[in-house]
Amino acid sequence: MPRVGFREMLALGRVIASGTLSRYESGSASLTSRFEARFAERLQAKHLLTVNSGTSALISALAAAGIGPGDEVLVPAYTWVSTAIAPLAVGAVPVLVDIDESLTIDPQDIERKITPYTKAIIPVHMKNLVCDMDAISAIAKRHRLYVIEDACQAVGVRYKDRFVGTIGDVGIFSFNYHKNLNAGEGGAVITNDDRLFTRARMYHDVGSYIRQHEFEGNEPIFSGVNFRVSELTGAVLLAQLSRLDTLLRRLRSRREMMVKHLSKGKKMKVSPHHDPTNAVGLSVIFERAEDAKKFAAQRGVERLIETGRHIYTNWEPIFAQRSFNPRIDPYKWAHREITYSAEMCSRTLDILERTCYVSLGPQYPAPVIWMQARTLARSLSS
Ligand SMILES: *Cc1c(COP(=O)(O)O)cnc(C)c1O
Repeated sequence: MPRVGFREMLALGRVIASGTLSRYESGSASLTSRFEARFAERLQAKHLLTVNSGTSALISALAAAGIGPGDEVLVPAYTWVSTAIAPLAVGAVPVLVDIDESLTIDPQDIERKITPYTKAIIPVHMKNLVCDMDAISAIAKRHRLYVIEDACQAVGVRYKDRFVGTIGDVGIFSFNYHKNLNAGEGGAVITNDDRLFTRARMYHDVGSYIRQHEFEGNEPIFSGVNFRVSELTGAVLLAQLSRLDTLLRRLRSRREMMVKHLSKGKKMKVSPHHDPTNAVGLSVIFERAEDAKKFAAQRGVERLIETGRHIYTNWEPIFAQRSFNPRIDPYKWAHREITYSAEMCSRTLDILERTCYVSLGPQYPAPVIWMQARTLARSLSS
């Protein structure tokens, strides 16, 4: 979402001039390490590990928590498909949970979907909106479940007095070109838990076979993968960090202005939000799908049912229950039969058919968005 420019160019130039593109070769001069320290401090978290994508971050967090064959992981039926695929990568199965009008996982449906085999919940903060973390944390505590917060689409966003990603046991960020921090591709695992951090770091670095990280003291060696980033990614992220506050401040003030205009509309309302004071994302929900469709014909508005692989009914690889090798079959390892159908989360579909996301256009000057608010409000008044 944020633009890239001169700051990123200078940062990349610095790395190239240093002649060292690997973070571990750069040692204490590593810009990736500097980014991690600075961002973790900003978010008031103990550890942050940069990896090569949000999907990699999800898989690393699941591996760190020791989730695997026989385990069920609760995921919302509305999220980027990666959230639901990540459990399969460690041998566990995703169990789909409805969202509510806030566009985030419905705590009541979480309760209904918990079985003796459930090990974790992955609440997803979609489109800079935030989940009901108080309710989710309480459920997780009662049932002794891990909370792995997927904050890929809400990097830097606040929920009450904390930042999303730092409320559950472990949080996940993506830094791909759609997200609040943009390194083209990239991701991170964030946690206050020493052991989860150690294990995520080991997993992302081939089990750290050749590198004894300072933290890995008592954790037995296990095999991992390579999800490392280069200094080029770290340098861009460090430079991007200086743009994040401006972006979020802009989104917040524009949301306030837009809400003022849109809340007078008929046959619709601004979607409920779990922390209106800090809100930086905006959607509206109509009584009827046709009205949402009409509204979405305008620039800067998108009806969520039209967002492809964010909706469970379009998750073909999951519905197919097929992996690259038929003997790797998390569904056979599950303790009960897991099936998926287009109807299983019909409430989610109903909400998505009636909900439109309203862009707050951080890339445009404020007067443009003010005009846009007036145009949208006018279209709602008839
Ligand atoms: C983008 C995204 C991911 C995956 O991130 P990548 O960096 O594309 O792998 C996971 N979950 C959500 C909710 C996302 O939006």
